Amino acid sequence: MFDDTQEIQKALTRIKDKVNKACIRSQRCADDVKILLATKTVSPRRIKIAMDQGYSLLGENKAQELKSKTSDPLLEKAEWHFIGHLQTNKIKDVLPSVAMIHSVDRISLAKDLNKRLQAEGRALDILVQVNTSKETSKFGLAPEEVRSFIKMIAPFETLKIKGLMTLALFSDQEELVRPCFKKLKNLFDELKSEAMPGTEMKELSMGMSADFEWAIEEGATIVRIGSKVFGQRPTKDSEYWDPN
Ligand SMILES: *Cc1c(COP(=O)(O)O)cnc(C)c1O
Repeated sequence: MFDDTQEIQKALTRIKDKVNKACIRSQRCADDVKILLATKTVSPRRIKIAMDQGYSLLGENKAQELKSKTSDPLLEKAEWHFIGHLQTNKIKDVLPSVAMIHSVDRISLAKDLNKRLQAEGRALDILVQVNTSKETSKFGLAPEEVRSFIKMIAPFETLKIKGLMTLALFSDQEELVRPCFKKLKNLFDELKSEAMPGTEMKELSMGMSADFEWAIEEGATIVRIGSKVFGQRPTKDSEYWDPN
């Protein structure tokens, strides 16, 4: 068996280096890009190795897995974000442990989140998920729907709208992937300049193992990285990104 600890440490060093270089290329400050580790299917023991290296911003896709990991004492110092499709009947399982939800993509979800948060007397940071590829995932709003969606949910005082999230097209062709990031950044800049009440456009969650350097060059403030740190997952990704 290979040494997990060293593998994970080396992977993190490589990624951090690439993040720094992408920041330099795009004249950005490395502090403005957060690395979120996408930990689906990864054991707490292996996640803890990354946390010991200083990476404690973690993202989960499913309520059940989030729940079991957040109750693991090894991971008690983590900050959790929810990055997967959220079913409304799972809201109660997710809310107690997350600092941000990246995947708000429909009115019914926003309404139910608001109701629950109101009952608990607190607010939550959220991102609006946008479908910039039309293929990668069936989740997320069409870019042209985003403005009216945000207008509708902005009055919910419990939802602090902090920015946008996307999954780009899955392709190794730069000229197909970059336009997804550009589209999200343009939308982000437009919304930011409009400064709608109830919104504070700060975070652009885009870029994964295969494309995070392009995403950073296009303006990402949070990159979500899984397999480049922890290795290939045993599950098919369609389980996480496609409805049903
Ligand atoms: C799994 C996942 C990631 C990370 O994927 P990798 O390609 O393994 O880096 C990023 N974002 C979301 C929403 C994910 O589900």
